[in-house]
Amino acid sequence: MATFSGIYLDHNATTPVKPQVCEKMLETLMFTGNASAIHKAGREARRLIEDSRQTVIKALNAGPRDVVVFTSGATEANNMVLKGAEVERIITSAIEHPSVLFAATEKISVLPSGIIDVDALEKMLVGNTQQTLISVMMANNETGVIQPIEKVIALAKKYGCLVHTDAVQTFGKIPMDLQKLGADFVTITGHKMGGPQGTGCLVICNCVALPPLLQGAAQEKNLRAGTENLAGIVGFATAVKLIDFEGYQKIGVLRDKLEKALSAISPALKIFGKDAPRVPNTSMLALPGVPSETLLIALDLAGVCVSSGSACSSGTVRASRVLKAMGATEAETQSALRISLGWNTTENDVDCFISKWQEMYERVKDKCQK
Ligand code: PLP
Repeated sequence: MATFSGIYLDHNATTPVKPQVCEKMLETLMFTGNASAIHKAGREARRLIEDSRQTVIKALNAGPRDVVVFTSGATEANNMVLKGAEVERIITSAIEHPSVLFAATEKISVLPSGIIDVDALEKMLVGNTQQTLISVMMANNETGVIQPIEKVIALAKKYGCLVHTDAVQTFGKIPMDLQKLGADFVTITGHKMGGPQGTGCLVICNCVALPPLLQGAAQEKNLRAGTENLAGIVGFATAVKLIDFEGYQKIGVLRDKLEKALSAISPALKIFGKDAPRVPNTSMLALPGVPSETLLIALDLAGVCVSSGSACSSGTVRASRVLKAMGATEAETQSALRISLGWNTTENDVDCFISKWQEMYERVKDKCQK
């Protein structure tokens, strides 16, 4: 099978699987055993799953009353919370992933910086008498802007609400400590941090009651029926063991270099969320006047994979609702491009990208808004 030979800068959509993860998964795929069986092979499969669970618990510093439920990824984990929590109100931010947003009864507005408006959230909660779930992501998948989740959790506690956070875009990039955080539910996925697609987990904290989304047999402590994805779980845990925060700081240096160079080449360049705290790998930018499709296709032809925003299942390019929520102009949303670096991005990749950008810019600069 061919591996991708171009410049891959779309890690927020999915990351390449780390070689050690592939090796562990292959080894596990060669092994036969259903973790529900009581014979030796079953017990070995069970051991692999429980060891993996311990790895995730340790990485998150989850507490003794927290339960890690392995899922098929973040969409499932989010659905489990948003569909399962017995509440009357669901307040989410306006910039959540669709697997959260679908359930919102109300949305928290977003400031032009890309940060949610915490004061607006408090106004929504004053005098609240209804059972309420608040769901706010840790960092946005398009802009990389880190959300004030500690403040959101403090408000949730003050007004007696349940609180969920989708930590997909921060896990593995910045350290997390669930015992300090105090959320009720936390969503993680495997494929944004060097693990396999179709893996992840929901952490249910402090034994908060939540029904299973998938019903059937008693796997995952009755919280997720179905034979476990053994190789996927082991692959996910292997990626967790390989988390390298220092490496991500270096990625931040490359991201900053890239933004500086692109701004020097194209003075009209707009970088979204630039003044807010951001995860180190993400840059959402726009060349107002030049449509995203033009930029995407030109870069694709030059062997560069980037995205126009969140990966869209239909493969089409749509104006970003995240940027709209931040108050970006029509021209800005129509020309947005997301560049997301990752664990295998090299300085050479960034330098090549800059020179491809320079070539592309020469061809499109007349279209740029003055
Ligand atoms: N939440 C966020 C913030 C994401 O970026 C994504 C993936 O793009 C998801 C949820 C969905 O994750 P999964 O592909 O594991 O279902």
